[in-house]
Amino acid sequence: MGEKLLKSLSKQSIKHEFYTPVPRGYKVGKTKYIITTGTVISGLGKGIFGSSLAKLLKFKGLNVTQVKMEGYFNIDSGTLNPYRHGEVFVLDDGMECDMDLGSYERYLDQNLNKDNFTTSGQIFTKVLEKERSGGYLGRDVQFIPHVTGEIKSILRQLALKTKADVIVVEVGGTVGDLENSHYLEAMRQLMYEEGKENVCFATLTYVITPASLGEQKSKAAQLGIGKLIELGIQPDIIGCRADAPVTEKVREKISIYSNVPVGNVISLHNVKNIYSIPLMLKEEKTDQVVIDLLGLGERIDKKKERSELMKWRNYVKKVENSKKTITIGITGKYTEIRDSYASITESLNHAGAENGVNVNIKWIETSKIEKGKKDINEELKDVAGIIVPGGFGSRGVEGKIMCVEYARKNKRPYLGLCLGFQMAVLEFARNVCKIKNANSTEFDAKTTEPVIDILPEQKKIEGLGGNMRLGGRYIDIKKGTKAYALYGNQTKIRERFRHRYECNPKYIKKLEKKGLVFSGKAPKVPIMQILELLDHPFFMASQFHPEFTSRPMKPNPLFNNFIKSCLP
Ligand code: GLN
Repeated sequence: MGEKLLKSLSKQSIKHEFYTPVPRGYKVGKTKYIITTGTVISGLGKGIFGSSLAKLLKFKGLNVTQVKMEGYFNIDSGTLNPYRHGEVFVLDDGMECDMDLGSYERYLDQNLNKDNFTTSGQIFTKVLEKERSGGYLGRDVQFIPHVTGEIKSILRQLALKTKADVIVVEVGGTVGDLENSHYLEAMRQLMYEEGKENVCFATLTYVITPASLGEQKSKAAQLGIGKLIELGIQPDIIGCRADAPVTEKVREKISIYSNVPVGNVISLHNVKNIYSIPLMLKEEKTDQVVIDLLGLGERIDKKKERSELMKWRNYVKKVENSKKTITIGITGKYTEIRDSYASITESLNHAGAENGVNVNIKWIETSKIEKGKKDINEELKDVAGIIVPGGFGSRGVEGKIMCVEYARKNKRPYLGLCLGFQMAVLEFARNVCKIKNANSTEFDAKTTEPVIDILPEQKKIEGLGGNMRLGGRYIDIKKGTKAYALYGNQTKIRERFRHRYECNPKYIKKLEKKGLVFSGKAPKVPIMQILELLDHPFFMASQFHPEFTSRPMKPNPLFNNFIKSCLP
């Protein structure tokens, strides 16, 4: 099978039913695939599971990458409301994608790009454009083989480009959804074409414990996995998500029902620290199961694995042994936070581990502060530091500016992220430079003092999709500043952006004259990127999002030094 079969399938002609474009130079067996899916419910943590497994394989010296396949029609995640779908994560190449890509990058400690993220919107656009340009040789264009053919082609192109030993594929959504059925069908075909020794399936499922019974029940899990098997996909590994460790009895029931040896039906119960999940999978020998299934034994570097595992174990211990706890106030509405600030909370955890503290978050609802429904002194008195994160629109901004003022005047550590940078500029303009009407044209298009204004390049743009100032850019750092010191005396750094507005260059001199230091600027154009105050323990803000580049054991310098200055 494999090579020969694929060759016969890749012949495209009006006479054949097949449509399996295979990129030139592709070799069956060079890259192996682990397909992860979810059954029963969404939100099982497939991303973290896949990343943890990928991490274990990377420890062994394998070249690993990950890809997410989203069912929705959006071309990217840029127009999605984070309160509905979790945070929009931005890759270095400017791709706005699902928050799972954030997990992938953090676990793998590897930059990914647009090839690692695909949506049905992208695939269907490609199919329709190809049809219009006559790319299907007079055929009626169908889900099978054309849509599935394009999906397989994406994976094979990624394999060829990255020369990966393993690609961990995450099919978004839940098995049984209409909107990911074309992906699952494509994965079934992939396995047939590449051969069983090159593709394996790991599915997550959910074991419920009804409160009225107080006992774990496996039926929903069995039915969910049954659905996958009906689609022609036999799982090799089943991860059982549950509140508490899954009992032997339940794992046995699931095993019998799904033709999966009980040793490969593993308990993935809730843990406090997500970075301990690779160790949990290691305990269960899930990495070895995959190595055996995919015949990767000969590619492994045992020595590297030992030292990498030790480093990771030490890191996890460090996180779990932190005794002190500090509370950081973040301006955001609690009821809406579900996953919408995932990278920020992770960055705080990375910085907390580095500084030996647990970070507790207090969500500050600024619309209540500005309306006087909550007293700002009362709200902020017990927080060690304050973060104003990114955001869009005018809701709660006056309250955010009040929080910045509080931090500045009370010498409380402050970290502003994107919108938080703009809030800091407005606060300084109003209260220090006495430009009373200072505002952003995002909130008041007709303001007489547009201290924050739309970027010139953004004025011409219509529509909202994928057209902000996006992705990784270089930043020139001014020598002798706090930014220079905390970025290790570098004069050029790279961080990721996602914004439409900026500090209006016409006001820069006025602001600087009163003591606001712009310590990071864009090369060549007058876009201000980092600001700081001198007579303050820590008052810094960035027009970029430092949370997108923070990783375990490598906290972003801004977060790290912010937390350091919050220590008691
Ligand atoms: N709304 C602001 C802008 O577009 C800030 C964006 C953000 O915080 N990501 O510039």
